[in-house]
Parts: sequence; structure tokens; C-alpha cells
Amino acid sequence: MSKTVLCTCEDVTVEDVETAIAKGYRDVESVKRYTGFGTGFCQGKSCLSAVADMLCRRADLHGEALAPFTPRPPWQPTELSILASAPVDESAPPVGGVPVSLGLSNRALRPSEPLPARAQVVVIGGGIMGLALAHNLSLWGERDILVLDKSYLCAGASGRNGGGVRMQWGTQSNIELAKRSIELMKGFAGEMGIHIWFRQGGYLFLAKSDAVARRLERSAALHNRHGVPTQILSAEDAREIVPELTMQGVKVCAFNRRDGVIFPWPFLWGYAQSLTRRGARVETFTKVTGFELSQGRVRAVKTDRGDVSCEAVVLAAGAWSPEVAALAGVKLPNQPHRHEILSTEPLKPFLGPLVSVMDSGLYFSQSTRGELVGGMGDPKEPAGMNLGSTLRFLSRFARALIEQLPEAGRIKVLRQWAGPYDVTPDNSPILGRTPTLPNLLQMSGFVGHGFMMAPAVAERMAAWMGGQPDELFTRFNLSRFAEGRLEREDMIIG
Ligand SMILES: Cc1cc2nc3c(=O)[nH]c(=O)nc-3n(C[C@H](O)[C@H](O)[C@H](O)COP(=O)(O)OP(=O)(O)OC[C@H]3O[C@@H](n4cnc5c(N)ncnc54)[C@H](O)[C@@H]3O)c2cc1C
Repeated sequence: MSKTVLCTCEDVTVEDVETAIAKGYRDVESVKRYTGFGTGFCQGKSCLSAVADMLCRRADLHGEALAPFTPRPPWQPTELSILASAPVDESAPPVGGVPVSLGLSNRALRPSEPLPARAQVVVIGGGIMGLALAHNLSLWGERDILVLDKSYLCAGASGRNGGGVRMQWGTQSNIELAKRSIELMKGFAGEMGIHIWFRQGGYLFLAKSDAVARRLERSAALHNRHGVPTQILSAEDAREIVPELTMQGVKVCAFNRRDGVIFPWPFLWGYAQSLTRRGARVETFTKVTGFELSQGRVRAVKTDRGDVSCEAVVLAAGAWSPEVAALAGVKLPNQPHRHEILSTEPLKPFLGPLVSVMDSGLYFSQSTRGELVGGMGDPKEPAGMNLGSTLRFLSRFARALIEQLPEAGRIKVLRQWAGPYDVTPDNSPILGRTPTLPNLLQMSGFVGHGFMMAPAVAERMAAWMGGQPDELFTRFNLSRFAEGRLEREDMIIG
């Protein structure tokens, strides 16, 4: 046992890293997420080489296997007021960005043992959707489940999001799903034995235009009818909840005290640990490359580690789902859109709710570690898979944040990253059977809110796959786009 501190910023010891390696986290990005090393003020400069050295010696990894590791800009902690002064051409779309590695071409990370030749259910995607579904299927007694992910767990949107969890939605379906998810989140740590740092500080929405103000009022009335205690507040009254806000230009606010935030990574690990304990398998660094189809069914899933025949396939590959579906000749209307986000140095607790200016898509909350975590959509962001980080985002975010929270100008940004929103034409998910391939089940299109929906959606999908009828899988079926039967959700941030 060693109490030698390896990452002084985050108090990570040699023993913590050894525990992570023993639990099977064998690439740098996964060890970083599991232990928190490299996420503090020095941005990994003092501890990365020590962890890499441990992975070489304890996990017998070398050279190429030490990737992926993505250094996060800004390269040194930088005050938001300085970032706000960076010039940005708001009329032009963002370009490029500092790229990230998901380790996809890294053969050294691919497990060497063969995949099983057969599984009852193959789940494509080890994000929150795939893992939560597999966990729920295992609760229903299904053990022959294989979850495949082309990268490490948490590589997709599920490991890159803001952890916001809210009941404030614009449709009855989403309100009910979010209510159930929050109920499940409350019991998650006790049930799964892993802390997800769930904190119900509420969500405070700010509206600056009349149109957004009306939207908040309309949805609050709907919430109240469904047992959600959302209050419409004046800017002045809302300042009692967060006195530091200027409320510049704000017409009206909506507040639900039961909304909150969780820390995303342990949420995935909790599901992954639970389902593997029950005999299901999760195979990372395993890419689905095609399908064997015959007589209108998927017979096998092809991967870069061999083929797996199966009875049913669930497509839960988030924003990558359209490209995977295309391998089976299925066209999905989802489009990936980059969303950028950042985290600051830790501060003493001062911010109860997650605050969002609905008009601009600005949102920020304070994590249990004290950091401000926040993002903002960019109306000029083109569709496409791009996980790069930009100075443009830092500058736009900093200006929008300082307008509402002037004290934030003195806070330093420690790291930024980006993830893909999985956007559908009506901002609602795609669920249920594929009309042309009934044993290919869809579970994608969750835009910027899949994290909070996953527990409830997965619970219902597992029951539905077990034979229980459920209107959700008809309402949100892929067929709705061809039938012109859209399910619009307008309480979208960003
Ligand atoms: C910046 C940002 C902030 C967000 N904030 C919130 C929030 O506050 N609250 C909230 O609820 N939601 C939020 N979201 C949305 C949320 O993160 C997503 O809706 C959710 O994580 C989607 O989960 P998923 O499992 O569908 O997809 P993902 O987590 O993206 O998982 C898909 C997985 O499929 C794998 N994959 C892809 N192709 C293949 C292949 N060919 N073979 C094998 N595997 C493959 C990928 O590696 C990936 O791990 C945010 C998203 C972003 C980007």
C-alpha cells in the first residue's frame, strides 16, 4: 500500500492508480477519468509521465498503447476576462479546433482475446444508453449480452457532458422520463455502490426575449400539471436564489428546485460494473464495421475483432448512429453537432442551481469539487463530427458568462473539451424497431439531454424488449419521419 501522492492537484496516490489498473482501466484516458489525475491546476504537466510510467510497468503497456491522451487547452490556466477579450468573427462559422484522439487506429489497445461467436443481444455503443440498457436487460434475466464500443468508456458524448438533470421539459413524455430518471439517480449510489455526486440544487432558466419568456411560462404550466413544482419568477426574485447574477436583460425566470447535476463518469462505470457482475460483457476498443443480413434480419455483427451472430442488435452509438446504421443500409435523419464545454479552477461553494440563459444557450453549474462547468451552443456550428476545441468558444462563453456573473472574470479556465450532440429533426429520440430490419433496435437521437433520459428510457426499453407493450417505442419510432408525425421538443439548451 502506498500513500505516495502522484497528482498533487487532485490528491491522487500511486495506490489509486494501481487500483484503477487492477479494475481493468488500462489506457491513460480511462485511468485519468477513474482517478481524476491530470484534471487539476497543473493540467497533467506534473503527473502524466508518472502515470504513463506506471502503465508501462504495472499493465505492461508500451509506446503506442499509452495513447490516447488528449492535452486540453488552454495550455495554461487563463482568466475568463482575458479569454473574453479574444476577437471572434460571430458572422462566420467556427473552424477546426484542437483535435482529440479516441485511440481508434491504436491496435495496441485492442483486446487480444477473441470475441464470443454468438450473443443473444449485441449492443453497439458503450455510452450511457448502451450501458444502461444492458444493465436493465440483465435485471430482466438476460445474461447473454455483448456491449461493443470502438473506444474507451466515456469517449462519446456520455463522458463529455455537463451532467445536468432536469424535469423542465416541453413535452409530457420528456417530463415523465426525466422525473423517473431523477428518482433512479437518487437510489443509484446505494444500488450500484458507486458515488455519482448527485446534487439537487435546481435549474434556473433565464429568458431575455418575449418569445423565450412565453416558452418558459408555457412549459412551467405543463410541469405543474405533471407534478413538477416549477415556479415562474421575476429577475428580482430569482436573484434571491443566485444573488451574484446581474440579470442583465432578463425578463423572466423559471426555477425547479428538484433539478440538479451529477458527475457523469461514475454513472457509466456503475452501469458497466453492474452488468458485468451479472455475466454480460463490455468490450472496448472493438469497432463495428458491418452487418450480415439475410431475409430481412440482422444475422451477425461484424467487428474489427471478428463476427458475432445474434438474435437482436441495439444501435446505441449516439451521434455515430447514422454511420453505423448506413452499414446495414438504413438511413437515419440524425446529424452530429459539436458542442463545446469547459471547466474552471475550483471555488468555494456559492452556486446552488445550474443557471441557463435559454436565448443564447449559455449554461453553467458548480460541481461538488467547486469548479464552474459550463458550455454554450454556437448557432454557426455546421453539422458534422468534430470534437476539436476552439478559442472562439472560450471567448464567446466568457463574454456571455461575465455579462451575468461579473465576478467570473477573475476565475481561471483549466480545461475545455467538446462532444457531439446527436440532433434529430424534431429534437426527440429514435427508439424501437427499424421498419425494414425488425431485429435492429434503435436507441439514439438524444440531442443534448440523453444523459438524464438514459435511466428511464433504458428501464422502459428493457421491459419492452422483454415483451411489455409501450407506446414510447411507437411514438418515437423511425417511421415517424416518413409519416410526417414529428414529436417536437422546444426546451433545448444551445
Ligand atoms: C457538451 C455536451 C454537454 C451535454 N450536456 C448534457 C447534460 O447536461 N445533460 C444531459 O442529459 N445530456 C447532456 N448532453 C447529451 C448527452 O451527453 C448525450 O445525449 C448522451 O450522452 C448520449 O449517450 P449515448 O450513449 O447515446 O451516446 P455516446 O455517449 O456518444 O455513446 C456512443 C458510443 O458509441 C460508440 N461507437 C460509435 N461508433 C461505433 C462503432 N462503429 N462501433 C462500436 N462503437 C461505436 C462511441 O465510441 C461511443 O462511446 C451533452 C452533450 C454534450 C456533447
